[in-house]
Amino acid sequence: MTDDKPTPAANEARSLNFIEQIVEEDIRSGKHKARVHTRFPPEPNGYLHIGHAKAFCLDFGIAEKYGGLCNLRFDDTNPITEDTSYVDSIRKDIHWMGFDWGNREYYASDYFDQLYDLAVQLIKKGKAFVCQLTADEVNASRGTDFEPDKPSPYRDRPVEENLQLFERMKNGEFPNDSMTLRAKIDLSSPNMHMRDPILYRIRHAHHHRTGDKWCIYPMYDWAHGQSDSIEGITHSLCTLEFVPHRPLYEWFIRELEIFPSRQIEFARLNLSYTIMSKRKLLQLVKEEHVKGWDDPRMPTIHGLRRRGYTPESIRQFADMVGIAKRENVIDVALLEYCIREDLNKRAPRVMGVLNPVKLIIDNYPEGKTEYLDTVNNPEDPEAGTRSLPFSRELWIEREDFMEDPPKKFFRLSPGNEVRLKSAYIVKAESVEKDADGIITAIHCTYDPQSLSGSDEAKRKVKGTLHWVSAAHALDAEVRLYDRLFNDPDPDGHKGHNFKEFLNPDSLTILNHCKVEPSLGEASELDHFQFIRLGCFNLDPDSSVGHLVFNRTVGLKDTWAKMKQ
Ligand code: ATP
Ligand code: MG
Repeated sequence: MTDDKPTPAANEARSLNFIEQIVEEDIRSGKHKARVHTRFPPEPNGYLHIGHAKAFCLDFGIAEKYGGLCNLRFDDTNPITEDTSYVDSIRKDIHWMGFDWGNREYYASDYFDQLYDLAVQLIKKGKAFVCQLTADEVNASRGTDFEPDKPSPYRDRPVEENLQLFERMKNGEFPNDSMTLRAKIDLSSPNMHMRDPILYRIRHAHHHRTGDKWCIYPMYDWAHGQSDSIEGITHSLCTLEFVPHRPLYEWFIRELEIFPSRQIEFARLNLSYTIMSKRKLLQLVKEEHVKGWDDPRMPTIHGLRRRGYTPESIRQFADMVGIAKRENVIDVALLEYCIREDLNKRAPRVMGVLNPVKLIIDNYPEGKTEYLDTVNNPEDPEAGTRSLPFSRELWIEREDFMEDPPKKFFRLSPGNEVRLKSAYIVKAESVEKDADGIITAIHCTYDPQSLSGSDEAKRKVKGTLHWVSAAHALDAEVRLYDRLFNDPDPDGHKGHNFKEFLNPDSLTILNHCKVEPSLGEASELDHFQFIRLGCFNLDPDSSVGHLVFNRTVGLKDTWAKMKQ
């Protein structure tokens, strides 16, 4: 017998991405004693989103795979935009996704003293100077790709004077923006980042960790690479926009003779119909286009969790997206596919009716309740069964009945039979209507024999409907979501603001839904598959007597279709 299925090992070898290849080469050559140490460096100025999840799945994933470590480092060099509440939310998100950084939680601000000393070292080597040009003057001194920048008149300040001024900057003797510390590199470099970049600026501002100790703050470029070196990071994984910064980081490593972390860049995750800029997400929150960072329509990890996404589905998504060297856009349907697949395996099946209409079984005894067995999850034999109350009056979906149906309508219509899921076969007989002609109740008869016998022996009919017993049903609010934007690239239209593409119908609230009584026991964020309707979870807004469900994802799978 031949088995063409790839062995796990072969599979692994084939799917090594370029970062894994580099890491494996380094391990083979014994670089850094074959140690692997990565970090995830969020700036605590917003909530993490699915793009960050992809980045930290990679950072923690590489460390896990090669028996290494991954640090969590808050890149908190900008006192103006950062906030402790973001630090907490970031921690919570990474833990929820199943990753742990042990006691290796670091802050770039912890390194402010070391960074200051490194700057002094650079000044002493004649490789940095205190510049008194204003931002406008610096801009005016810029050249072009082909012309060098004009040198700052302060570029050749003597070392001693630079040292004194830099210290006085630190001591708070000068106002904001009156001076900067700049590296002295190469004004004609084709790489603009090498043209005497700014390392420090003056900001008399309170910092969420260092308080009022500092009034000079390092620029990201000065802090980031050095923080990696201080922590002994072997592989510093970041997104493509840092490619042109790498020569500068390498210059710092050479000049300062610090630990040579290697930066490797990969493409950002871009998702169709989705905004990924923290600044713009903040705008959506502040201007109340959404209900908060955890609004289920947001691409934030908080939002995805509230919507009903599982950590496993997000990790699976990050894996399927892979690691690319070039910018690309991933279809949001792939994310939906991942959660649908995951919940299909684990979510118990339940019955809920979103748009209810009464179904009265005229030949069923009044006041009688039967408890009928039903399986909790056909995909999971361990999930067991539960019993559903059945009685004379039920709720069914209004769309499941038509008085005057077209051909091939296999749901309920006058004279036509359907099976009620895990219950009897019923035949519609007549309807009651209100003064406006709206159906208020459907009368039917049931076949008492249709439930007896083995599954094979049971009489078959074309349609099966979900239902709940009216006397036992619980009231529920159901929130249905559509994409937050109605354009695949809301941020990509010149001359248009991304908010012009907000989908006015991204949230539909149904207030009169009916669900089976077992859902009264559900806990916050529990997952369910409402039969025929999609995957739902219990929203934290629920309270006793007021159940609120979010639809995580519908059952229709556009991604699977596209793959065919
Ligand atoms: P900002 O514009 O505020 O810097 P940012 O999204 O880059 O926003 P960071 O906190 O700096 O936010 O990101 C932390 C890490 O996550 C960085 O290493 C960054 O490269 C990575 N990252 C951010 N967005 C994405 C994305 N869409 N795809 C993959 N990685 C991302
Ligand atoms: Mg960033």
